[in-house]
Amino acid sequence: MIKRLRTNPLLVGIFSLFLVSLLLVGCGTTEGDESETETTETEAVEETDSTEKIEKEADVVVVGAGGAGLSAAVEAQKLGNTVVVIEKMPQIGGNTIYAGSAYNSATPEEQDDLDMSADELETIESYLDMESDEELVKEWQESVRADIEEYKAEGANYLYDSPDFHKLQTYFGGDQVAKPQLVDILANNALEGREFLSSLGTEWQDTVNAAVGATWRRSFTPTAKYGPAGADFVLPQHEYLEENDTDIMVNSKVDTIIMDDGRAVGVSGVNEDGQEFEVTANKSVIVATGGFGANVDMRQKYNKHWDNLDESIATSNQVGATGDGIVMAEEIDASLIDLEWIQLIPTYGKGVWTAYIENQFYINNEGNRFVKEDGRRDELSNAILQQPDAELYIISDANTVVDGVTLNGRNVDENIDNEFSFKADTIEELAEMIDVPVENLEQSIESFNKGVNTGDDEFGRSVFDQEFGKAPFYAGLTSPMVHHTMGGIEINENAEVLDEEGNVIEGLFAAGEVTGGIHGANRLGGNAIADITVFGRIAGQNAGK
Ligand code: ADP
Repeated sequence: MIKRLRTNPLLVGIFSLFLVSLLLVGCGTTEGDESETETTETEAVEETDSTEKIEKEADVVVVGAGGAGLSAAVEAQKLGNTVVVIEKMPQIGGNTIYAGSAYNSATPEEQDDLDMSADELETIESYLDMESDEELVKEWQESVRADIEEYKAEGANYLYDSPDFHKLQTYFGGDQVAKPQLVDILANNALEGREFLSSLGTEWQDTVNAAVGATWRRSFTPTAKYGPAGADFVLPQHEYLEENDTDIMVNSKVDTIIMDDGRAVGVSGVNEDGQEFEVTANKSVIVATGGFGANVDMRQKYNKHWDNLDESIATSNQVGATGDGIVMAEEIDASLIDLEWIQLIPTYGKGVWTAYIENQFYINNEGNRFVKEDGRRDELSNAILQQPDAELYIISDANTVVDGVTLNGRNVDENIDNEFSFKADTIEELAEMIDVPVENLEQSIESFNKGVNTGDDEFGRSVFDQEFGKAPFYAGLTSPMVHHTMGGIEINENAEVLDEEGNVIEGLFAAGEVTGGIHGANRLGGNAIADITVFGRIAGQNAGK
């Protein structure tokens, strides 16, 4: 049984106001907080000489203030370094602040409150037979095999998990394209990454869920103390940096990594006033500029696996996700890998309020289920693209939307709009609202409930929680959107950037969505936040040494 910890609506309200204010007036960074003085100073500079270059220096220079950049900055700062964070948008947070709020980490002592079905056990065993030439992968398989033998011998029925099983699902879930050494680090350090966030203030719900495309119930959700969506993955780090007087330059777009004799020694760019800036790094530069989901040209240039990723396909990304770090890295001959792998998220947008699938199912616009909802994101998106009008309705009841609010703090009841989001007291009413034959919707509910009650689902789904049928009922309309770019700058286990010959580029680190090699051909839902936190921290620790 899943336990629920209610979100404090007041905090949600505060966050909404915060988010609006971020969007309207820029973030509450060290600079933003002193906006009056800062503006006056900036204007004074402009009046005297708008061409004067801003010059700064710090031990560590971080480019990009999303989850990876902010985690890196905190770690570098903790080591006693001076740190400058440079962000091109008016606000911090990047794509991370809009994330679906799921953080994957194998945490058996919290997962073993849940029961494991026979289907789930079969799922684990299926990974033990998958073939790989990689020694590391074979080691993960052996460790999980030993655990499962013991599990069966005990006659246990709790939900099994371990970092090694997380690795197997990440690696095979990305079609063995990722670098096993990076997958190893991701899963080994995911829990510690959550503890790092906790140490800065993030609090966690007392539940374990499966995010869309997570393929296992190991997704943890913050309490939305800092706000809904991804707020709790960036605002705690931001608060820490502010308290420690870190210089966070917003509205400042970096366009060049400055090299000297093969070493990265700083960055330069232009701010919103057209003023050039140059920040010298005494120790290192960290590139944490995120992916290129909002850059249609780059999508079209690298895409090999989708029919079309032009502007007709929407994106879940913020406008600043334009792949700048990848372009800058290419200019200095850094190695770029896996760029062809671009993720479409099946469930994002105005009709979607939660990242979790246990108590939801999907229908097409004829009212029929068509896919196992706990599958991979690429499988789900492909299946949706083949449905009439390439759209789906996500069907939920009061097990997902509890008193109008979802687990990750979204108030659905206040956002029912009859264009994308629908709420009804009966199934008949809901079917009428979304214009699907009621008998088809009823048949879909029956199909879902059979899976819940027998574990034998007609589409092969194995992740379930409660029987569907608790009013009110909800439907959310959406279509797949460009969400995550799996490829990017190649790094090693220390988050050091590699060149095209595989050598380390001195003084240069990268972390987060700008990197490649961690997720392979498909990223598991809930793995991105773990990735950016784990590798952001590693980059910050090594850059600040
Ligand atoms: P991650 O999840 O990897 O941290 P995010 O998308 O959350 O990625 O954050 C990346 C941040 O980098 C965004 O806030 C984005 O606006 C910023 N950014 C992107 N390009 C530049 C650039 N050229 N200069 C400064 N900041 C940038």
